Amino acid sequence: MRVRNVKNKEEIISNSIYTIDNPESYKGKWQTLFNNNNPIYLEIGMGKGKFILENAKNNPNINYIGIEKNGSVLSYAIKKIEEYKLNNLKLICFDANKIDEIFSKDIDLLYLNFSDPWPKNRHEKRRLTSNSFLEKYDKIFKKDKLIEMKTDNQGLFEYSLISLVNNGYKIEDISLDLTNKEDFINVRTEYEEKYILKNNRIYYLKVIKTC
Ligand code: SAM
Repeated sequence: MRVRNVKNKEEIISNSIYTIDNPESYKGKWQTLFNNNNPIYLEIGMGKGKFILENAKNNPNINYIGIEKNGSVLSYAIKKIEEYKLNNLKLICFDANKIDEIFSKDIDLLYLNFSDPWPKNRHEKRRLTSNSFLEKYDKIFKKDKLIEMKTDNQGLFEYSLISLVNNGYKIEDISLDLTNKEDFINVRTEYEEKYILKNNRIYYLKVIKTC
């Protein structure tokens, strides 16, 4: 989806109390930023922020970090999030391609929600569940590596399942129809709401790689 360019996005991002503009300096010590020992959950490609905002509001004992590479998209998220006063949420305008430059054994859980599918073979490396990304994620987790993903894209789902299993992850939970999954508390993302309205099937995967 094309997003309208936000002209003053740099200003919005740098003036926000939620954004971290020097994330490299917290590598290996994100806990000190939150000033507590609560777990840290990371969302890569957080888009306009509905999922991470709702989670941060509902779970004050979990710290959340959202990463989004598109400054205009992040500006929309900031406008929404700044209506609230939350101590457990931080945002970074950053390309996850360099994720291992800002985290080292800091993260407890990683969310990948409706990641761009990059269907062409020549773009495989850009998929957030490709080997090269999974190798980088290995370095960011505190202990066990826990990833939850949702997508409406069957190709990306199948690709991710194979890639994660080939990289040593075990399936903890899986659904081929998340919208109708029973006994599951699901916080919907912006894209998820759109796709549900279109009657698209939502795939869900939770995987773990233990140390
Ligand atoms: N997760 C949101 C949702 O479900 O509503 C947004 C989904 S949107 C399809 C994918 C988002 O991931 C886009 O906003 C895009 O800019 C961001 N993204 C894609 N690759 C990224 C990367 N390498 N680093 C950071 N963000 C990325």
